[in-house]
Amino acid sequence: MSRMMADCRRFPSESNCSLTIIGEEEEVVRAAAEHAATVHGHENTEELHKQIREFLEPAETYSNDPRAHEAMPA
Ligand SMILES: [Zn+2]
Repeated sequence: MSRMMADCRRFPSESNCSLTIIGEEEEVVRAAAEHAATVHGHENTEELHKQIREFLEPAETYSNDPRAHEAMPA
């Protein structure tokens, strides 16, 4: 099974978060949801899990270089 990536650096955050989570999809969704709740004050809901799933990128696209922020989807 291919690994996926949730990259906090992709979105603007007050703490300028630099966390990247890589693993199998279910692991990443769970870890990213916990991270979003504890660090970024989101509610850990089904809706959040769904959003995170849509943000996932293939782990192969990971780069340690800084990346430009994208607008948070409305
Ligand atoms: Zn973060």
